Amino acid sequence: MPGRDCPRCPRLVAFRENWREREPQWFNAPVDSFGPADARVLIVGLAPGLRGANRTGRPFTGDYAGDLLYATLKHFGFARGSYLASADDGLELVDCRITNAVRCVPPENKPLPQEIVTCRDFLAATLQEMRELRAIVALGRVAHEQFVVTGGARRSAFPFGHGRAHQLGALTLFDSYHCSRYNTNTGVLTPQMFRDVFAQLRQHLDAAG
Ligand code: SF4
Repeated sequence: MPGRDCPRCPRLVAFRENWREREPQWFNAPVDSFGPADARVLIVGLAPGLRGANRTGRPFTGDYAGDLLYATLKHFGFARGSYLASADDGLELVDCRITNAVRCVPPENKPLPQEIVTCRDFLAATLQEMRELRAIVALGRVAHEQFVVTGGARRSAFPFGHGRAHQLGALTLFDSYHCSRYNTNTGVLTPQMFRDVFAQLRQHLDAAG
């Protein structure tokens, strides 16, 4: 896990510092993974949202993307408790963990290619400590490619596509469009399309026993 003041991406450090001054009560630091390390599922998002995870300190917590993600996780038995959009709401993840391809909030939700590469070490460390890992859900192309490359595979061999499943060694990668407000507002992703991906995941895990 990167330290609170991880210095590796100068542009993101400057952005973080700026928001620490503007909103000193916010988390404003690299956001750690949420959920048990012995989970069989890892969900990989893009990066903390400015007023979501960057504010609350927990992935997908406090913005629209979290409303859809956590409701879906609860529906399929991957979460229990109440999601109240704050890191201390007591929500627990079950057999599931959530992380981001890039741990610091980027301006306009857009990390630069170099920042994605630089933060890859932390995804690698997360994957390494998850001994029971069986499946990944990548939310969006950046998360998908970050996982594929971190696993040592060629991007071109595993093209991203919503609803697709890929086999990478012992791990199955499920792709979904990101559950951002933009994607749902524009109809790129409907809640049903999102649920269908998790239904596929649930079925896969249940079949594996
Ligand atoms: S994005 Fe990752 S590598 Fe870059 S500063 Fe943040 S934690 Fe460090």
